[in-house]
Amino acid sequence: MEIVQVTAHSGRRETDFGGDGPDGPFVRQKTLAAAVAFDGIGIHCGTKVSVTLHPAPPGSGIAFRRSDEGGGTLIPARWDRVVNTRFCTTLVGDGGSHVGTVEHLLAALAGCEIDNVVVEVDGPEIPIMDGSAAPFVALIDGAGCEEQDAPRRGIRVRKPVTVSDGRSTASLLPGPGFTLRVEIDFENPIVSRQSLSLALVNGTFKTELAPARTFGFLDQIEQMQAAGLARGGSLENAIVVDGDGILNHGGLRFEDEFARHKALDAVGDLYLAGAPILGAFHGIRSGHDINNKLLCTLFADSEAWSEEVLRAGELDHPAHEPTRRLARTSSNPWPRAPDGRPPS
Ligand SMILES: [Zn+2]
Repeated sequence: MEIVQVTAHSGRRETDFGGDGPDGPFVRQKTLAAAVAFDGIGIHCGTKVSVTLHPAPPGSGIAFRRSDEGGGTLIPARWDRVVNTRFCTTLVGDGGSHVGTVEHLLAALAGCEIDNVVVEVDGPEIPIMDGSAAPFVALIDGAGCEEQDAPRRGIRVRKPVTVSDGRSTASLLPGPGFTLRVEIDFENPIVSRQSLSLALVNGTFKTELAPARTFGFLDQIEQMQAAGLARGGSLENAIVVDGDGILNHGGLRFEDEFARHKALDAVGDLYLAGAPILGAFHGIRSGHDINNKLLCTLFADSEAWSEEVLRAGELDHPAHEPTRRLARTSSNPWPRAPDGRPPS
C-alpha cells in the first residue's frame, strides 16, 4: 500500500485531508494514471465486448457506463444496485441500464486499491477474459495508478453480521485489516472440500487470488448452454471439471484454485460496499447471492458498521502477518442436499 506522509508541515495536503491524526497519517484515494482499453468475449452473451477504464475524480467511486445505450447514465458499483446474482453479479442504473459479470473486474480494482474509475462498456457484460482477475490486474498495472487529493475511506465492521441461506453461510466480523476465510464443499472428488484463509495485504490479492479461474462442471455447462446461457464459455475462460478429471490441458494453476476463486469472487462482491472492508469475511459455500445479502444485512444495521478515513498501515497492520493457511481434504462430513449437489 502506498502511504501519504501527512505531517504538521505538509501544507496543502494537511488542509485537504484535515491534517494528520493521532493514529497516524492518512491513505490517499487512487485512480488510474491513464485510460486503458481492452476487449473480450462475454461469457453469457457470447459476443465481443469492448471496455475502457477511465480515470475518475476523487470521491466518485467505481461506476459503469453502457456506451451502446447512449452512455448517459452511470451505473454505480454499489451493493444496492445488484439485481441478479444467479450466475454472475449484475448491476442496474437509474435509467434501467444493466451490466453483468462485474465481479472479477471489481475484485481486480479492489486488489489494486483503485477507488475511482468509470468503466465504459459497449455490451451487456464485462468480458470474461481467462476466467480470472489476472488480465484485469495486468491492465490496471499497465495503466498505472495515481494518488488523489482526498483521504481513502473504509467500511469498518463494528459487530458480527451473519447471513444463512440453505447450507450456505456468510459472515462479517470485526477485526484488523481485511481477512478472508472461504470454505467450499463439492461432491466432486477433484473440487471436494477446500478451505483457504488469508489477509489481503501487501499485494497478496495479485499473487494468491487474481490468477484463480472460475469453474464449472461439464454436465451443468451443457445444460446451461442448451438453455442459451454461458454461450461464451470455453476451456479458454473456465476450468471445466468432468468427473474426476480436468478438461483443460494445462491443469490447475493452484491445487486449491476452486477455493481461491470463491475468495476472489468475495473480494469483488464485497467491494460493492463502495469502499474497502475493515474486518473479517467468512464464507461457507458462499456465492454472489449470499455475499450481496451479507452487505444488505450489514448496511441495514447502522450499529454494525461505520465509515472512516483509512490510516497508514490499517490494511496492512503489522499484527496481520500475510500468513495463510491452506487446507484441502477429501473427506466430506457435511450433509448433502437431496440432489447430492451442494449449492454453488
Ligand atoms: Zn467468479
